[in-house]
Amino acid sequence: MRKLLRKIFLLDLVEGLKVTFRNQDPKRIYTEQYPAERPKVGERYRGAPRLNVNPETGETLCIACNLCALACPEHLIVLYSERNEETRRKELTTFTFDTSRCMFCGLCEDACPVDALELTQDFELAGYTREGQIFDRQMLEEGPRPVQYKF
Ligand code: SF4
Ligand code: SF4
Repeated sequence: MRKLLRKIFLLDLVEGLKVTFRNQDPKRIYTEQYPAERPKVGERYRGAPRLNVNPETGETLCIACNLCALACPEHLIVLYSERNEETRRKELTTFTFDTSRCMFCGLCEDACPVDALELTQDFELAGYTREGQIFDRQMLEEGPRPVQYKF
């Protein structure tokens, strides 16, 4: 009998609506207004890679030791260098980092002895092509090129 009355007076529906309207209170709305407001990401979040440069000289901090490439379990980092005959130092010529298959584990960053490679808090890595997900040295040093959105 009780069940029947509940059905006749649509009590379940009324209870459901009560929950819905209770949560309409603007104080209880948690929607983030992205991209107008950028959400805060965790301090230790690992996102887009960056190759750090000396802020005074603009020269790369990378010493082309290849340790990051060796540390990567997915072999996503490829770099080449040349020996400078005057200084006898290796100089970085090209550096690519494939973010399309990266799991942002941070092993490459940890392996770098001079803090040249860093995974930043930038999470906006969407793109339209796989090729666009491969960061070259310029993108790594200056930041990713903005994606041309198609509407
Ligand atoms: S974060 Fe991990 S998977 Fe990505 S490049 Fe570095 S070592 Fe490889
Ligand atoms: S580990 Fe650091 S210094 Fe060595 S090649 Fe990678 S980014 Fe450059």
